[in-house]
Amino acid sequence: MMELEDHIERILWTEQQISERVSELASQISDDFNGSSSSFAVVGVATGAFIFLADIVRKIKLPVSVDLLRVESYGFGTESNGAPRISSDVKIDIKGKHVLLVEDIVDTGNTLTCVISHLASKGASSVSVCSFLDKPARRKVRIELVGEGKFYRGFECPDDFVVGYGMDYAELYRNLPYVGILKPELHK
Ligand code: 5GP
Ligand code: MG
Repeated sequence: MMELEDHIERILWTEQQISERVSELASQISDDFNGSSSSFAVVGVATGAFIFLADIVRKIKLPVSVDLLRVESYGFGTESNGAPRISSDVKIDIKGKHVLLVEDIVDTGNTLTCVISHLASKGASSVSVCSFLDKPARRKVRIELVGEGKFYRGFECPDDFVVGYGMDYAELYRNLPYVGILKPELHK
């Protein structure tokens, strides 16, 4: 049997470390959004954020609606092509809501910038971001939040290509319960 573990050069965050950090983020978010007047929606960016989304919403102790949208931001390989577009929109009405956008990783910032302006154009009263990982060294565009929006991140990520906990290479490795650096010879 192929062992996915053999494809990982180094583990950056274990299942346990991730779980503890997700709990911290969720309690911070629960505190920050508690008692806010308009209703609260959490929107995950598919597919990469699906595990983080599932974990964090179960630890947020507030009434919340949950939805997903999909963005195509990738050409080939491991670099985003800089021209993302929404290929599948949210189903819930986000007009007048406080939206928390849940993403797997912010790299250049192009994907989030596109999604934030999309949600703003649909009338969200604020847009916050909770990204599991952040690669600030690779940022090309500044993330502009909407209204009282806040930025949360799980961990600062080194400039390596990582997989696991929802994140893929060529649609594989999403099911790894930890995050690791993919052996460079396995991706271009
Ligand atoms: P950005 O538009 O910020 O450059 O790219 C964000 C998207 O690129 C993320 O949502 C993620 O899907 C993908 N991405 C960026 N870095 C990595 C990485 O190290 N590993 C994986 N699997 N995806 C990444
Ligand atoms: Mg993504």
